Amino acid sequence: MEESVQPKCIVCGETKQEGIQIVSEFICEACESEIVHTDVLDVKYSFFIRQLKQIFYKKNA
Ligand SMILES: [Zn+2]
Repeated sequence: MEESVQPKCIVCGETKQEGIQIVSEFICEACESEIVHTDVLDVKYSFFIRQLKQIFYKKNA
């Protein structure tokens, strides 16, 4: 497998080692924990949702 390829976080756009894979996209540990701790009413939440929606739009395209 291609171990040298580092995943790029779909939220912050940075290449990170630690993180989670959602569908075929990667979210780094920092962003993942931010999403988890973000209140639904927080402005940042809608930003994360928008970023996550890109994953599903791509999947359905
Ligand atoms: Zn990130």
